[in-house]
Amino acid sequence: MLPQKNHSAVFSGPKNFQIKDLPVSSKDCILLKTLSCAVCGYDVRVFKEGHKKVRPPIVLGHEICARTLDILRLPNDQIIPEGRRVIVSPLIPCLNCDHCSVGHFNSCNKLNEIGSSVNGGFADYINIPQNNILINGIIPISNNIHDDEASLIEPLSCCLNAHLNFNIRIRDEFVIVIGDGPIGLIHLQISKLYGAKTIVVGKIPSRLNEAKSIGADMILLNNDPEESIRTIWDYTHEKGGKLIIVATSNPEALDLALKVAGKNSLINVFAGISKNKTLRIDPNLLHYNQITLSGSFSSTPKVMNKAMDLVRQQKINLRRLVSHRFSLDEIDKAFSISEGYSGLRSVINSF
Ligand SMILES: [Zn+2]
Ligand SMILES: [Zn+2]
Repeated sequence: MLPQKNHSAVFSGPKNFQIKDLPVSSKDCILLKTLSCAVCGYDVRVFKEGHKKVRPPIVLGHEICARTLDILRLPNDQIIPEGRRVIVSPLIPCLNCDHCSVGHFNSCNKLNEIGSSVNGGFADYINIPQNNILINGIIPISNNIHDDEASLIEPLSCCLNAHLNFNIRIRDEFVIVIGDGPIGLIHLQISKLYGAKTIVVGKIPSRLNEAKSIGADMILLNNDPEESIRTIWDYTHEKGGKLIIVATSNPEALDLALKVAGKNSLINVFAGISKNKTLRIDPNLLHYNQITLSGSFSSTPKVMNKAMDLVRQQKINLRRLVSHRFSLDEIDKAFSISEGYSGLRSVINSF
C-alpha cells in the first residue's frame, strides 16, 4: 500500500527550503523508503547559488540509503526482497547515446540525476525511475554497513571512479590530495589502500588532524601557497606528486596542483568549481613535465558495487566521516553546518 504523503524538504530557490508533504505516486517508478541521505558539497553549492542542472522546486539529495517497499527484480537477475536496505546510483541515463551504449552512463548526453533534475533523497520516500532500474542502479547492502555510512558509498564510488578511470600506478608514489573535506579524506583512504604515500593539503586544522589519524603521511595547513609548494617539493625529494587530486571547489587549488605535479603525473579535477570562476594556466608546465590534466564526474552502478565491497570488507571507513545527524525538519541546520565547514559530513535521517 502506498504511503499517504511524502514529507519532503523542497529546494525552492537559492537559500530556501520548504518543508512540505508532497503527494505520493509510484507511476513508472519504484518507490523506496529513505533511511539516510548525506549532504554533499554539491548540494551546498546548489543551495547557495543554484545550478544549471537544477530547476526548483525540487528535492535535492543524491547520497542515499533506503529500504525497498516491495520485491524488486533487476535486469541483472538479482531479486531484492521487500524490506531490504539498498543504496541508489543517482544516474538516470538516456540509454540511447554513444556513451550509454558502452556503459559510460555517467557521461550520458542526456543524463538526468536523482537529487538534481529529478526529486532526490531529502524526503521520507523517493521515486526511482525505470532508466535507473535498467542499469541496476539499486544495490542491496550487507548487514554490517550502517545506514549513515551506506549513504557515503555514493561519494566513495565517485572517488573510486577517478582512480579506476585513469588506472595510474601509485604504489610507493606520492599522492597529493588538495582539500581536507570528507571527499579529500575518502581519496586519502583510497590512496593508502593502493599503497601511496599521501599528502593532504587543507585549510582547517581539525580536518587535517583527522587526515593524520586516518593515515596521511603528511598534512599541510595551506596558509601560504608558495610555502606549501616548497614544503611539498622538499618532502617528496624534488619528485613532486604522481597523482594530484583537486578535491575542493576553490579554483586556486588547481594552480597549486600544477605547481606540485611531478613529471609524467596526473592531475584530477574531482570537485565542481563555483560558478563564474576561471583560471589561467601555464601550458608549459603541462608540456615540459608531461602532465595529464583530467577530470572525473560521478560514477556508475558497476563501480558503486566495488565501493560497497570495500566498505563491507572494512577496507574503507566511511562511518568516521559522519560528524552530524539531523532530522528532515532540521535540514537548514544541516546545510549551515556544512557551509561553515564544521565537522565532516552531515546526514539527514528519515523515520
Ligand atoms: Zn555527492
Ligand atoms: Zn545516454
